Amino acid sequence: MSTTHPETLALHAGWRADPATTAVAVPIYQTTSFLFESPEHAADLFGLRALGNIYTRIMNPTTDVLEKRVAAIEGGVAALAVASGQTASAFAVQNLARTGDNIVSSTDLYGGTWNLFANALKDQGIEVRFVDPQDPEAFARATDDRTRAYYAETLPNPKLRVFPIAEVAAIGRRFGIPLIMDNTAAPLLVRPFDHGAAIIVYSLTKYLGGHGTSIGGMVVDSGNFDWEAHAERQPLLNTPDPSYHGAVWSQAVKPLGPIAYILKMRVTLLRDLGAAISPFNSFLILQGIETLALRMRAHCENASAVVEFLKNQPQVSQVIHPSTATGADFERALKYLPRGMGGMVGMELKGGAEAGRSFIKALKMFYHVANIGDTRSLAIHPATTTHSQLDEAEQIATGATPGYVRLCIGIEHIDDIVADLAQALAAVE
Ligand code: PLP
Repeated sequence: MSTTHPETLALHAGWRADPATTAVAVPIYQTTSFLFESPEHAADLFGLRALGNIYTRIMNPTTDVLEKRVAAIEGGVAALAVASGQTASAFAVQNLARTGDNIVSSTDLYGGTWNLFANALKDQGIEVRFVDPQDPEAFARATDDRTRAYYAETLPNPKLRVFPIAEVAAIGRRFGIPLIMDNTAAPLLVRPFDHGAAIIVYSLTKYLGGHGTSIGGMVVDSGNFDWEAHAERQPLLNTPDPSYHGAVWSQAVKPLGPIAYILKMRVTLLRDLGAAISPFNSFLILQGIETLALRMRAHCENASAVVEFLKNQPQVSQVIHPSTATGADFERALKYLPRGMGGMVGMELKGGAEAGRSFIKALKMFYHVANIGDTRSLAIHPATTTHSQLDEAEQIATGATPGYVRLCIGIEHIDDIVADLAQALAAVE
């Protein structure tokens, strides 16, 4: 499809009609296996001489449309859908780093990613070096010969400070290191590849699915990173892979296009670890993506109105949103988020943890859940939930201060959103 307009790609990319039935909606191909045309055809598929369906753990036609659609929206060349956002983050790193290697990551991360990096990957011998994203050069200082990737989130909560994508991507490219961006909180608002990122990771569970029904994840390959030019820096793509007849991925995949990174992930990590998304979830997430542009616009508009409302409330000492940032943070918000500043809003309640608890208890329409990116408005008090295992100093460092409440603004009528917030604030001492 020649257009780059995301509203159109969200409806059309990767699909016209079912070749067998002419069905317009993408069917749910609920099958484990696919019939080979002949023994030669089967051998070609397994040998990667031809691309096609083999087994739903590795690929599926419903999931294929989802992958093509997200890749098109992001301006990437190919994508791999997986069982969850957690798997997407893990695979994005494990595809480049093995025991003894390291990556450098922003400290501003979703808690689950933090745990994955600080514990699970560490146990696998992959060290994650955390640096403050406010100083892009910190990524360069933490880099050594065994650094294989940089990792960050576009719009991390609770701080909601926009990550300096272009600055860190440029530093990485100096060393032959790709920047992996988790764009879960800002689909359509930011296209990380436009700023030099090499890989995008999504939790599809959030805004892309949008309706709070399905867990899923995605890794998108920009095709813009020259793995072969950095053979020493990126050995997993440039040395023979014993798990695939000694294939050197940067060479073997060349005839198929610049998809070495993502194809390797599909035919090794997904094949071996098996964290496949179900075709039914792919179908539901495709339904969500059809209205992503409309929803993101509504989330952003409603969130801006909530920011204005909260600024004038006596119980609120601070409103946290990219639009209320100052200095370099505000400059970055303007640079990276011209299409809208996101659906998440933080607020600091003067009454601290007790006020946070009372506020959450008093909400009538907002759902008290540990999720983001749903059509419905959501709220959580991090200090007593998502960040409760951290000590006080760590809570403050991560931005989960005692009086902080995270709101994820939905697409209900703004009057109803504000009315629920107003009555819940009235319940706070
Ligand atoms: N990345 C971000 C920014 C998230 O908020 C989440 C989940 O909350 C994840 C990744 C993990 O996604 P999932 O829950 O689909 O595994």
